[in-house]
Amino acid sequence: MDSLNGRRARAREVLRRIKAVYGDPGIELVYANPYQLLVAVILSAQSTDKKVNEITPNLFSRFPSIEAMAGAREEDLIPYIREIGLYRAKARNIIACCRGIVERFGGRIPDNMDDLVTLPGIGRKSANVLLANLYGQDTITVDTHVRRLSRRLGFTEHTDPTKIEYDLMEVWPKDSWTTMSNGLILHGRRRCKARRPDCEGCEFRDVCPKIGVEGSDGG
Ligand code: SF4
Repeated sequence: MDSLNGRRARAREVLRRIKAVYGDPGIELVYANPYQLLVAVILSAQSTDKKVNEITPNLFSRFPSIEAMAGAREEDLIPYIREIGLYRAKARNIIACCRGIVERFGGRIPDNMDDLVTLPGIGRKSANVLLANLYGQDTITVDTHVRRLSRRLGFTEHTDPTKIEYDLMEVWPKDSWTTMSNGLILHGRRRCKARRPDCEGCEFRDVCPKIGVEGSDGG
């Protein structure tokens, strides 16, 4: 990996290009209120946002609030989410999470990492999505795309998401954390795919060392 200053300079340039290509990138999950985002985030683990967006309208009209979901039974919820991977575990977690919020946090989704990760179904990645999108906090979401792109772009050598998050905190300015991670997620879906990334057509190609990409100097 190159020097911290080199990585910071490259990060600044990647940020400039993310803004030029994607504007102010948001997340692709569709939601109308905090409760809906909470449920969508739990459902989206190891699933696509597109699939989650397809099933949530019916789910939210049947269970319209945290309180309604807290009172649900697993067998009532499962028919609405059956098309999503790991649906049994997710049904259990969604109900337990909503119960936890009602019983321990007065029905309000916590606004800090320590409390969020005590809730079933909420890990550090999901908590960062909630803190950024519900409370406007600067957070870095390390999903599979951010993990892959951070390594290819030479911002980290780690594979552990928490270690990657700390490496990225070091090179990205704090007020860019949410924009950068949302931008890399979009770029990973559209350009820098896991298999056969489109380096030829990539907007970052002249600043990307392409670490680990087959056939590149960085690989
Ligand atoms: S140049 Fe290639 S490896 Fe680097 S970000 Fe673009 S697509 Fe990914």
